[in-house]
Amino acid sequence: MSVWEERWHPLREEWVIVAAHRQNRPWIGETAERGGEALPPYLPDCTLCPGNKRVSGRVNERYTNTFVFDNDHPCVGLDAPEASLGRSPVLRSRSARGIARVVCYSSRHDLTLAQLPVGEVAQLVEVWQRQYRDLGDRPGIDHVLVFENKGDVVGVSNPHPHCQIYATNFVFKTIETEARVSARHLAQTGRFLFQDVLEAEQADGRRILFENATALAFVPYFARYAYEVYVAPKATRPSAADLSPAEVADFAEALSRVVVKFDNLWRMPFPYVMPLHQAPTDGGDYRSFHFHVEFHPPLRKPDLLKYLAGPEIGGGNFLSDTSPEEKAAELRALPDVHYKSGG
Ligand SMILES: [Zn+2]
Ligand SMILES: [Zn+2]
Repeated sequence: MSVWEERWHPLREEWVIVAAHRQNRPWIGETAERGGEALPPYLPDCTLCPGNKRVSGRVNERYTNTFVFDNDHPCVGLDAPEASLGRSPVLRSRSARGIARVVCYSSRHDLTLAQLPVGEVAQLVEVWQRQYRDLGDRPGIDHVLVFENKGDVVGVSNPHPHCQIYATNFVFKTIETEARVSARHLAQTGRFLFQDVLEAEQADGRRILFENATALAFVPYFARYAYEVYVAPKATRPSAADLSPAEVADFAEALSRVVVKFDNLWRMPFPYVMPLHQAPTDGGDYRSFHFHVEFHPPLRKPDLLKYLAGPEIGGGNFLSDTSPEEKAAELRALPDVHYKSGG
């Protein structure tokens, strides 16, 4: 029997989403990208291309830039079943209530975020703003997690450029931690923690990848992955929705510079997990939360995966095999024009 509910992990103090009903979702990732063959701009059997029919029977709009729809294989849903009864006070579960959506970045099946013009990246940031407001304002939605998984190696089921949104009835653990430490830092020092990080990075300078009037991109001093990068507005904004139009444009430029450098690193589409870290929407006081995007690249070299093993999975702390300063220097030296556009 397939299980769909949230189960409480009493030792880690966090929810586990059990979504065993999703096992049969479509998978065209490996077959579509095998051998590095060039992808077509439109694929008749892609569930994300404009005008195509999805597994649910719904038909995609004939969109041109971005397109948002409710995920046909949601891990959290408004129609999620009631949770099963736990067998003891420590074995708790509850319904996986929420809304899961998909955001297509472009009508073009063959492009990635790195190949979009900066203006289209800014349009995408505006979609993130609208989605955060729309979903975050709903009762029962405590957090809006936006993330892009890119590349076969992180399990992407379709190379069509897109990200996902999990609007959930709980706050994800990493966000909860960031919110808690940021609030504590403000209470203890009167300063914003992320501002202190930005100041320290700017003072050092070695790990800064890009900077404009209101945004900054850098490899953090405390990076856990090789080529880990943060992109953030300079001012403390709790969510993407709080960025001004000028900040959206600057943020999009910084984001674009980073993903172009990533692709130029090995002259191949660079895989990553890219979450947006935004303040919870559960009604709490999050004025000290500083919105940012994190890139977690799984590869250390083109064919060398950073395996999460004993320290990371077993102990929960990272063992980094690379120097953040060296990795930042590699990225800084790369051209700002995408290699497929002659960079
Ligand atoms: Zn497509
Ligand atoms: Zn973060």
